[in-house]
Amino acid sequence: MKVPKPFPDELLLSRLNRYVTMYGVHIVEFTEKAFGKDRVSVHPFLPAGIEQLAALIDENKDRIINEQTLAPLFFLFMPKHAAQLKRLMLACEGAKAFRYSQLASFSSRHTLCLKWCPVCAGKELKELGVAYWHRTHQIPGLTACPFHPVLLHRMLLVSRQRVMAGCLPSHTDAVVPAAEVEVRVARFAYELLQLNSRDMGQLDLASVYRHRLSELGFITAHGRVRREGVMKEFMAVAGLYRPAFDTDLPRNDRDYRYISQLLEPESSRHPFRHLLFSCWLYNQPQDLFKRTHSSSSASESNKLKSSKKLRIVELKCLALLRESHSLAEIYRITGKSRCYLKRLALLNAIPIETKPRALTDECKHCILRLAHAGVHRKAISKRCGIGIGSVEQVISSTHGMVDRRKLCHWESKRRRCRVKILRYRQSYPKAIRQQIKVQCNAEFFWLYLNDRGWLEAVLPKSKKPIGRTR
Ligand SMILES: [Zn+2]
Repeated sequence: MKVPKPFPDELLLSRLNRYVTMYGVHIVEFTEKAFGKDRVSVHPFLPAGIEQLAALIDENKDRIINEQTLAPLFFLFMPKHAAQLKRLMLACEGAKAFRYSQLASFSSRHTLCLKWCPVCAGKELKELGVAYWHRTHQIPGLTACPFHPVLLHRMLLVSRQRVMAGCLPSHTDAVVPAAEVEVRVARFAYELLQLNSRDMGQLDLASVYRHRLSELGFITAHGRVRREGVMKEFMAVAGLYRPAFDTDLPRNDRDYRYISQLLEPESSRHPFRHLLFSCWLYNQPQDLFKRTHSSSSASESNKLKSSKKLRIVELKCLALLRESHSLAEIYRITGKSRCYLKRLALLNAIPIETKPRALTDECKHCILRLAHAGVHRKAISKRCGIGIGSVEQVISSTHGMVDRRKLCHWESKRRRCRVKILRYRQSYPKAIRQQIKVQCNAEFFWLYLNDRGWLEAVLPKSKKPIGRTR
């Protein structure tokens, strides 16, 4: 099978469409040969069945994945799912690969489309005689061409059959200028994709972003992100980006979750969100990779340094507490909150005098007695006439109390579930296992997972299935 060689930045689907157009191949015949099925829905930028296709056209499967699909971008931004996504794309597991790409959760499944730049298409028709689908244009969220400051056109993919004769970009004079930020993000995405196609390795993006934010002065001395400042400046740029159905943009400059989620280690976020944010942080994508080698050792030593620093502050607080300084005074010296100091004092059995004197030794004793019996925090708070925060503080600063309460809670849940099953059995002695499972569903499964021995002993014996006679 002689599939035409790829043009620069050409999508695999584009090559297949050119092939069936040029040779007038029957589609069913082609999909049977290439993917082993007569009906196959080839995803425009994350196609599956590449191993079989690569063998058929005698090409390297890794090169196809890395250079003719958007997989490298997903591998980079979703490191947790990268290996699985690649395996599924090589096998003929299109639906599963799509699931692993997380695109479904970004709600862009129903609006799958192919995008193209009218200027690129016009130029290609003139020079090559055919216009083709560019890989970079298909990046979800991109609205502009990286090479021309114009908006991309979209063609909705309504049919499940995506390998089609003649399905290639057409010439149009409708050219709409794009905003500067849209072209900048597109250019950044194009360069990043080119870099990553050469396998630049994995990135710990959360720490790369943190490192850069720290360079820009957005991290406090205590290692916290100044999210307000970040969002304000980031929105000044992101706010100019044109919203489309697949652009994952922040809602406003108080949408702090937008940034927090990107800074979570190994979190899976929409590739466009990463592109927009990293394009704001860096001038060029190469900078993202520059500090990976130095940053891993630097972050380790930073961690060590900060834990040492914390220990020094803790020791200082303990010394001041022992010298009976007031909490307000210690706060002024060390910057540590009253809550932290109170907990530290409780853990180290240092008596402290605080202004609200409701939490007396007697009250604490009462709280601990009730907490030990597994009484709910709200009930303890009501009975002792003290705030729920104080109750929680006493509980969490007593060794072993949290574990004991967890056990109490677990046992109480088990009692409730057992009683529900037993009552149902008493009311309906003839009920079979299936009916009990349906009527007491939550309790049934809780016991199945946590107390299977008891459940099996109480349930009626399962009946042997009766075979169907022909
Ligand atoms: Zn273009």
